[in-house]
Amino acid sequence: MAYLSASRYLSGLIFLGRGWVFMIADQYDVFLFDLDGVIYRDDVVLAGSRRCIRKLRALGKKVYFLTNDPRPTRQELYDRLKSMKISVSQEEIITSGWATAQYLAENNISDVFAIATEGFISELEALGIRTKIEVSCQAVVAGYNENTNFAQIQQAIRHLEKGSRFIATNADKSFPGRNGRCIATGAIVEMIRMVSGKQPFIIGKPYSYIFSIVFRRVVPGSRMVMIGDSLETDILGAHRQGIDAILLYKDKLRFPSKYDYRMPDNIIPNILDLFKPNVEVKNWRNPGFPWPDDVKPGVAAVIFNAQRQVLLVRRNDNGLWSLPSGHLEIGETVIEAIKREIQEETGLIVDVKKLIGVYSDPVSQVFSYPSGATTHFITLSFLCCITGGCMQADYSEIAEVAFFDISNLPINLLKMHPQWLTDALVEQSFSFLR
Ligand SMILES: [Mg+2]
Repeated sequence: MAYLSASRYLSGLIFLGRGWVFMIADQYDVFLFDLDGVIYRDDVVLAGSRRCIRKLRALGKKVYFLTNDPRPTRQELYDRLKSMKISVSQEEIITSGWATAQYLAENNISDVFAIATEGFISELEALGIRTKIEVSCQAVVAGYNENTNFAQIQQAIRHLEKGSRFIATNADKSFPGRNGRCIATGAIVEMIRMVSGKQPFIIGKPYSYIFSIVFRRVVPGSRMVMIGDSLETDILGAHRQGIDAILLYKDKLRFPSKYDYRMPDNIIPNILDLFKPNVEVKNWRNPGFPWPDDVKPGVAAVIFNAQRQVLLVRRNDNGLWSLPSGHLEIGETVIEAIKREIQEETGLIVDVKKLIGVYSDPVSQVFSYPSGATTHFITLSFLCCITGGCMQADYSEIAEVAFFDISNLPINLLKMHPQWLTDALVEQSFSFLR
């Protein structure tokens, strides 16, 4: 106890001199805990978690519990934590099911078709959201119920086809069971998404809505940290929100990129290590691009006419001008892909003269689409020359095709294309790797 009082007294020193670092508990005001795998596993309280929460409260810290499990009500989790002798209030428990009910109410959605447990249904009905719909509904809500059947999934797809919104409590595809992996909400969501073609709005970690509920409750400027056991939900989710994240794990991990959002700011094997002296947390810094869902190979072309003007297309999806570009289809070579893209977008037939550069820096190569999907493109840019065809825009994807003077490019040009054009104008035999 003597140590705790001393560290509380001295905690300000951490930020005045980097040589003085105290326990992690001193470095934050608000602690967000995942539940399963951090506080308990199934119905068994995990070693140290009870003491950890008690010590944080003694230090005057704010504590919240964020779980993607949409099945239990907050009251049920409150009862479970109390039975484990963990001090908690119901206000501190945020489930993806309860958060979904909040989201629906905020967005005036009052009739839903829900795949849900009785607990989740009661959270919805507590906010006046009707789940016993007869013909149509405003939204399909995907939670989890062990008795979910094929007919219910089919029904959900029918509602989406008629125009209902698609809301998912979370995207976790499986969880560990006694006899192997078990189906979770994300697997049901994926089935509905694949057949309906509709992208869900997802409430739980690693998406923002569940975190936004905490943000509204804490004092602005509070120092926040997430403690979790999942890289894909807890760590990624916290980093997407710009807050630090600590992984509860016993081994070392390696990540392919130093910018990986899933890289924890510290790894601790025991939850009580939050109170170990001299443990520094690497503060998360946004690397300047949103975390992508996938990586795709892309191609682009720089094409000059006889007057040394460059060919640009105006895209229908975002209204911006760009070099002709696209991504590879399965089985295509990059040469086949760029020739096809140019012919589809502009009606022109081209030959490839040389590779100008390969562009992979995520800061300029990660794109977010209105659907919510985010892709990291690795793009090969080629110098091409026209050998035939007749210039005409493909009006489904491209609104306009035109040549522009290099000194008079349109203002609304895709942000990285001026660099690609500059590289094309350099009279060099090598290709750029950016
Ligand atoms: Mg967990």
